Amino acid sequence: MKFNFDNSYQTLPESLFSKVLPTKVKSPQIAIFNDTLAEELNLDFSKVNENEIAEIFSGNKIPDNTTPIAQAYAGHQFGHFNILGDGRAILLGEHLTNNNQRFDIQLKGSGITPYSRRGDGRATLSAMLREYIISEAMHYLNIPTTRSLAVIATGENVYREFTHQGAVLTRIASSHIRVGTFEYVRTQTSLDELQQFTNYVIDRHYPHLKSNENPPLALLDEVISKQVDLIINWIRVGFIHGVMNTDNMSIAGESIDFGPCAFMNAYDPRTVFSSIDRNSRYAFGNQPNIAKWNLATFAETLLPLFDANPEKSIALAEKVLDSFDEKYRSKWMQMMCNKLGFSLLQDNDLDFIKTFLTWMNQQRADYTNTFLALQGEQFQSDELYSSNEFQYLYTEWLKRVELNEGGLNEALTIMKQHNPVYIPRNEYVEEALESASQKNDFSLFNSLLDVLKNPYTFKEEFGKYQYITPNFDAGYQTYCGT
Ligand code: AMP
Ligand code: MG
Repeated sequence: MKFNFDNSYQTLPESLFSKVLPTKVKSPQIAIFNDTLAEELNLDFSKVNENEIAEIFSGNKIPDNTTPIAQAYAGHQFGHFNILGDGRAILLGEHLTNNNQRFDIQLKGSGITPYSRRGDGRATLSAMLREYIISEAMHYLNIPTTRSLAVIATGENVYREFTHQGAVLTRIASSHIRVGTFEYVRTQTSLDELQQFTNYVIDRHYPHLKSNENPPLALLDEVISKQVDLIINWIRVGFIHGVMNTDNMSIAGESIDFGPCAFMNAYDPRTVFSSIDRNSRYAFGNQPNIAKWNLATFAETLLPLFDANPEKSIALAEKVLDSFDEKYRSKWMQMMCNKLGFSLLQDNDLDFIKTFLTWMNQQRADYTNTFLALQGEQFQSDELYSSNEFQYLYTEWLKRVELNEGGLNEALTIMKQHNPVYIPRNEYVEEALESASQKNDFSLFNSLLDVLKNPYTFKEEFGKYQYITPNFDAGYQTYCGT
């Protein structure tokens, strides 16, 4: 096994990172290792024993040919600007796959760094397993996301409200460059360095923009499109990120940082699970607004590069930012039509979508299962779906899909590709995490992972994962900073 490291980030100005090694841990042990992902990365661990794997991915043993760093960044957290940085993470290196795809290999929970502020640099086993299972679920839902290669239990305690087992997660990402990284570069370095950094990001993520007449402006436009696509995907499956601070928004358009995130069951755009989101800033239905706010912050960091004349620069930025609403609206419409199996937009489609969503909201109907009920294979006997109101909507829907060129069959084919049968239901995530992190029993965790690896295909034996205890969500809360 050999990493193919090529650490390009270290060619950037030194103020953007610090060379720092992980802090060694007492007795590292594999909690979970992702063989499939290792293979995709062209990393062959078949001849590496488990102790050695645990040594490498706990940060105890640094592979050859790399100099680990912690990255500096800033960010607006709940609207307030702060200087941040990898406070508990270390970039082991940038690994190139056989076809030259570049991935950050990052250890999270690996000890303190110059950016740790008052934190201990550590992470709990439960929180890292949570990131593992949710990020893998996102991947199999076909949503751009960072991924998880391993969780290593450290054999040390981590102190939060209670005492927890410590762990280190190995996170794989196209990069860890965030909107907040641009905020750092813009506020803490020179204009030359901003230009250099922007060129680096374009080279690394969007090389086709280099020939554009205004590459920084094209970058803004491209990042907007990527974020619109991402949020639309979150809305499609009912995902609530929970802490969409600008430091948790990736320039590559991947879902990143699965702290207090959760999936919505009963449909309500106001749904919030995060214990610290008291003003519902990051509620399910507010995610597009926040994305736009974050992108405006991103645009601000690039202003000096759009044009030498500040007024002209602002006008250029505003024009591109204004495209967000239309991009979002048309992608949202397309996504909802896919969920309902409507091909080629018809005049009344928007009316139907609104009526359907309003009914779901009023009934607090399950977001995932209601689309499956339309698909007609499941839930026919549920009281809610045999009600007159739903049956009326169903009849209207049937009339509409008959207008597709391929009628109902075409609708069902489209719907099956866009409506998951299985999502990580909060109740099952919690029980799996509890028994893995407190009893070292991974059977529930592995069963849930199996279900989430094929989220679009119904399997009789997975049936229970479609239901949660009624009202389980009513008192459900997720926690940050774990
Ligand atoms: P997050 O809420 O996980 O996105 O983290 C926000 C910031 O706090 C980032 O700069 C993290 O690196 C830092 N941070 C979170 N937890 C810890 C910790 N236990 N020790 C040090 N820094 C932390
Ligand atoms: Mg973060």
